[in-house]
Amino acid sequence: MPGNSGRAWLLPHAVLPMPLWGAKTGPMPNPPKSQQDRRLELYDWSALNDSVEPLMHWIREYWAQPENRSVYEPQPPGKVLDALPQDMPVEPESPAAVLRDFESIIAPGLLHWNHPGFFGFFPCNTSGPAVAAATLGAAINVNPFSWNAGPSATELEMRLIEWLGRAIQLPWPGTFQDTASSATLCAVIAAREQTLRKIGARSLREAPQLTAYTSGEAHNSVSKAIHLAGLGHGALRVVATREDLSMDPEALRHAIVNDRQSGCMPFFVCSTLGTTSTTAFDDVAANCQAFSNAQSDTRSDTRSDAQSGLPIWHHVDAALAGTAALLPEMQWLMKGCLSADSFVFNPHKWLFTGFDCSVLLVKNREAYTSALSADAAYLQNHAPVAAPSSSQIPVEDFRNWSIQLGHGFRGLRLWFVLRCYGRARLESMIRAHLKMAQDLYGHLAQRREHFVTLAEPKLNTVCFRMHSEEATKRLHRLVTERGRVYLTPTVVKNTFWIRIALGQTGLLEQDVQALVDELDECARVVLG
Ligand code: PLP
Repeated sequence: MPGNSGRAWLLPHAVLPMPLWGAKTGPMPNPPKSQQDRRLELYDWSALNDSVEPLMHWIREYWAQPENRSVYEPQPPGKVLDALPQDMPVEPESPAAVLRDFESIIAPGLLHWNHPGFFGFFPCNTSGPAVAAATLGAAINVNPFSWNAGPSATELEMRLIEWLGRAIQLPWPGTFQDTASSATLCAVIAAREQTLRKIGARSLREAPQLTAYTSGEAHNSVSKAIHLAGLGHGALRVVATREDLSMDPEALRHAIVNDRQSGCMPFFVCSTLGTTSTTAFDDVAANCQAFSNAQSDTRSDTRSDAQSGLPIWHHVDAALAGTAALLPEMQWLMKGCLSADSFVFNPHKWLFTGFDCSVLLVKNREAYTSALSADAAYLQNHAPVAAPSSSQIPVEDFRNWSIQLGHGFRGLRLWFVLRCYGRARLESMIRAHLKMAQDLYGHLAQRREHFVTLAEPKLNTVCFRMHSEEATKRLHRLVTERGRVYLTPTVVKNTFWIRIALGQTGLLEQDVQALVDELDECARVVLG
């Protein structure tokens, strides 16, 4: 590591020795620093100022010439730890030195999620407006957990939620969260509390076993949420899927009826739009219908009369797919969602917003916030609820919408993105990704000598494999080692598949062609 660059001038004025004004010898004293300068020194303004130009240069090169680096360079675990000093620095260092180490130690050890060779997991894309807003947000660094802790931040986020809700035809109140996992956990907690309230139980101990339902294709954040909400792993019923990997509504109905008949209390169902493995879609409307059918099935059974009338909270996890619902031609995917209770999607995945930014919409504001509200004297919002001249618009205290108190101003990034691109351009960028996924599927489906493809993609993810499991695994290993493209595998119906998820901001058609060429070449190597 380079040593420090000795920026003693950065020390706050207050801790510098007092000048000897009366001394006859020595240098002339500097004029006293202005208050502005002293404040900027405390912020280490120069670290920001000196970084702006090199950072802009770095980011430009990073985005414009991704071919200058591999999407991923396999390296042994511990390599970066070895390159980092054991103890934290004591003396100041220049931002240039830190940036140099970032470039030489950190950047090569990253998986580059925004590289056009990145097709792993789901995308996590970003943009110029998002980075500009992130910088501004980092500078103002507000924490608007209540309206009075950030009136304009709260109201901007409320308006953004309205914009998004209307755009995807779900005009509900909601909030920004860090991730879909947190949003799903909050939905489970709201559902749990709603059920306990309805049966007059003060805790889970006073209630029958609460049971939740989702398909085996749901994201594991659902089972984690059930566990974290204190319901125990045994509370989750994994419902069978149909041929197209959607949750089977008939199996859902049977599971609910069976549980009611055996004294359990079904309270939560999670449907998924765009599953992580294959972007399969549950039929939200059919799942809703399955509850009401289960309701009437159990009503005719005297043993479970008490439980049959209790509502089941229906949560929809559209972490990736929700963004596609901005496109008029993709709004089919929202079918039935108005009859659900909550809905989550992640602008940080596919709406160019940068990590993290998740949106949770809920139908019944009171049912939701009553489960998550927390008040302490120091948190109360002492702002006038309705000033005499105000229009008495109720405003949110977002601390009552999340597990944590603190609330990052994520909306600022999304606001910049929505305004700087405009909806029409965002739609056309997402549409381009959908078209590339179709084209990619076409290319792979044609190469029957090498590849087997799963169903034609409805979204941005294509799954394929080679003709044997062993060959598919070898192909995946080889592709990863070569570092030109990055793909993640999955298991579908006990078979190993490779997923290709598109959605990086800078992705061009030629990157998709390069991916096809790389897969062809690797397949030839694997097949000898
Ligand atoms: N739900 C689905 C369908 C996902 O694909 C993912 C992540 O890819 C998640 C939830 C978890 O998202 P987050 O990282 O925002 O918690």
